[in-house]
Amino acid sequence: MNRNINRRDFLKGTAAGALGLAAAGMGVPALGQEKGLYTPGTYSATATGMGEVTVTMTFSANEITDVVVDTSKETTGYGLEQGGEFAQRILAAQSADIDAISGVSLTSNSVTEAAKACIAQAKGETVDIAPVVQEQAQDQMDWLGEEPDIPAIDETVDVDVVVVGAGLSGVCAARAAAEEGASVALIEKGASFNCRSGEYAVLNGPLNQRWGREGIVDTDLVVNRLMRECTYRNKRSILKKWADHAWEAIDWFIAACPDITICDSTRQAVTQEQFDKGILVPLSWPLPEHYDYTKEEFPTFPSSMEFRSSRKDQQGFVVEANLNKALELGAKTYFGCFGTKLLQDEQGRVTGVIVRDAQNANRYIQFNAAKGVILATGDNSGDPRIMAHFAPEIVEKKITNMGAMGMLGVDVEGNPCPTGDGLRMGAWIGAKVQDFHAPMTHHMGGGMGVTPFLQLNKHGERFMNECIPGQQLENQIELQPDQTTYQIYDSKWPEQIPYMPANHGGLCYIIPEDEDESNPNFTDRQYTKVSAKANAYNFKADTLDELFAQLGYTGQALENAKASVERYNQLCREGYDADFGKDASRMFPLENGPFYACTWSTTSMLVCVGGLESDENCHTFTGTAENPTRDIIPGLYVCGNVQGSRYAVEYPICFRGISHSLCVYYGYVAGKNCAQGV
Ligand SMILES: Cc1cc2nc3c(=O)[nH]c(=O)nc-3n(C[C@H](O)[C@H](O)[C@H](O)COP(=O)(O)OP(=O)(O)OC[C@H]3O[C@@H](n4cnc5c(N)ncnc54)[C@H](O)[C@@H]3O)c2cc1C
Repeated sequence: MNRNINRRDFLKGTAAGALGLAAAGMGVPALGQEKGLYTPGTYSATATGMGEVTVTMTFSANEITDVVVDTSKETTGYGLEQGGEFAQRILAAQSADIDAISGVSLTSNSVTEAAKACIAQAKGETVDIAPVVQEQAQDQMDWLGEEPDIPAIDETVDVDVVVVGAGLSGVCAARAAAEEGASVALIEKGASFNCRSGEYAVLNGPLNQRWGREGIVDTDLVVNRLMRECTYRNKRSILKKWADHAWEAIDWFIAACPDITICDSTRQAVTQEQFDKGILVPLSWPLPEHYDYTKEEFPTFPSSMEFRSSRKDQQGFVVEANLNKALELGAKTYFGCFGTKLLQDEQGRVTGVIVRDAQNANRYIQFNAAKGVILATGDNSGDPRIMAHFAPEIVEKKITNMGAMGMLGVDVEGNPCPTGDGLRMGAWIGAKVQDFHAPMTHHMGGGMGVTPFLQLNKHGERFMNECIPGQQLENQIELQPDQTTYQIYDSKWPEQIPYMPANHGGLCYIIPEDEDESNPNFTDRQYTKVSAKANAYNFKADTLDELFAQLGYTGQALENAKASVERYNQLCREGYDADFGKDASRMFPLENGPFYACTWSTTSMLVCVGGLESDENCHTFTGTAENPTRDIIPGLYVCGNVQGSRYAVEYPICFRGISHSLCVYYGYVAGKNCAQGV
């Protein structure tokens, strides 16, 4: 079993501390019963690991006659459903020494310990096994679990390339491999392909040429910035190749969709029919007059675009067109099928994958892949154990988790899609998981977006340079009392907006009030009519004193709030933020009522990105934290969010849509490389 380094040793503090075992003898031996192995009666014990398991066992003098295992406090998919099976196993074995149920080792161990405690009570022994349980619990908290045993293979399918996961990256991989002449099986546990939203980062290429943005951003500048934002724990080779070549794959991706309308500006008017078929727009284009990313401490690179449409899955029209290209070339989709376990030959080459067909009586299909398997299974946000291990602060701070809520899709069994299946399948065969997973938690602000107006915390203190990107904003909010802050602005805000940065989630354009709103391409977070923000606030007052009263400031907090605004106004007038370093061009004094405040708390996590260590050819490598051998695993490729080493620690929001762009580009590379045996 592999163990990989976590961001810090989560298990030692939390799990062991939470662990306990309670035993309660309920057995009252009947008078005159013969003496045997046990004192007849019913005994109960509870073991606490991830959840809480209670085992109740009834004994005759020499036999266990009844077992009830209550797993109702365990998690769905992690032991909750297996109570009956555990009970049967204990009864059949007449012992607590039963085989663990695959995939639920933590619950298995809790059941064993509780059953042992029942037996000990029935034998009249002292129940003193807590230290053993604690030791095992550290092991049980392991996110990886055991590779499942497959009972029997019901069918075998031979192809060249198997792609597991029909999200954005998997669809691109399937099409690219099919174009190389490979026979392709695309396995997906949901009922359909999967995608959302539509922003893309792309440098240079014909589209940027068309928009007048060719060479507007230097690729090395971007790559260096991305490396810095990920604290140099990611791989430059992956980002450099993407920065130089992504436009080729993105042109290829768009070419699948001849009906698309390409707009020349962000909010170019289109007809409803065009919008229904799908459009592509350059983002923040033309740029706001005052925005020069080269002068920004935290630049947002002005080379992003967005697919838009009337579809709920927004970019679904272009992803579907790419899937259709793959199908036209003979690729076959297997929906409702769960990639479960990778197969290897004696030399360690990955030769296929075993799949559970959930819609056909859970039959197991063995897919033999002559050229290789591509994992495109997405991220890990929907798996509580992987999250607890690799991004514990997200779990502990109870950051809203979109993956866990099913916002990245649900499989045919009703569970969230991003459960780290590819990470586990890879790790089970010895692939190295990357360190320092990167949660995508970029704040989007409230009604006024992340626009850098003054912010005060609940103590009435200013605490940051407000002009930083959403991901960094989130970090700062998390440091504040109750993780709550107030964004405060005054009635002059419409005059200030054109000076604000063209970043992700902030306002920087004011639209004329008489503009025709029937254009379906009207909505864009950076643009607003003044009237559209008439109710965008949580609090409004004619004076600052009244506003502060509404915010609940009293005593020292009230004094602080008054002093903070006074100081801020002074810094604005001096034209230099000596306290937090905000650019003077975004320092506007709060002087003209009415005054407004928007409440901020922590944001939502969209995905949590951390995959199998990889390179610019989508290979994976062997190794563990203790023994990082890093030999290429032949026959195994990764793309999308299961491709590790692209980001680390932080998701870099300096380039809008970088996630989609890397998914398409490395999906394309993985498909080609796997089919060509690179
Ligand atoms: C609301 C929201 C908005 C976003 N907006 C943007 C944006 O504008 N720009 C941007 O760049 N990024 C954005 N992102 C992030 C981006 O969408 C994802 O990072 C990216 O699409 C992931 O693509 P993927 O192919 O790696 O994975 P996914 O799209 O998650 O696809 C993985 C697929 O694999 C399947 N799968 C998993 N395990 C198995 C298995 N064992 N067997 C079979 N199938 C399996 C899943 O069911 C899923 O369909 C957004 C995310 C969210 C949640």
